Amino acid sequence: MDCIFCKIATKKVNVAPVIETDDVIVIKDLNPQAPVHLLVMPKAHYASVLDCKDAKLLAAMMEAAIAAAKKLKVDEKGFRLVINTNDEGGQTVFHLHMHLLAGRPLTGRLG
Ligand code: AMP
Ligand code: ZN
Repeated sequence: MDCIFCKIATKKVNVAPVIETDDVIVIKDLNPQAPVHLLVMPKAHYASVLDCKDAKLLAAMMEAAIAAAKKLKVDEKGFRLVINTNDEGGQTVFHLHMHLLAGRPLTGRLG
């Protein structure tokens, strides 16, 4: 399967991870929408959050996001976590991932 995030997770494409565990990798977004814009993804391929029934893995993604926020020292000021899902959700890469946005005031409304 030709999936860019699988290639990143398996190191076929060389990206320096912000955080890495056995199951999850956190990288910088290629096209950042905020001073801090990270992507938190499982190493295993799931097309979207709809396909991942693994509650432990979803929790591991949350833990990795929090660890990354602390590592980059945006935890106190705050950050936003977003999972875009399918077309109207704005998903463009169909390998489950969560955005972590921080480093500027994020507007109060979503979208
Ligand atoms: P989404 O629209 O939620 O599917 O988000 C996909 C995100 O992946 C976008 O913010 C892209 O900028 C980002 N992206 C796409 N390709 C790469 C890549 N090779 N490395 C890092 N981020 C990427
Ligand atoms: Zn994939």
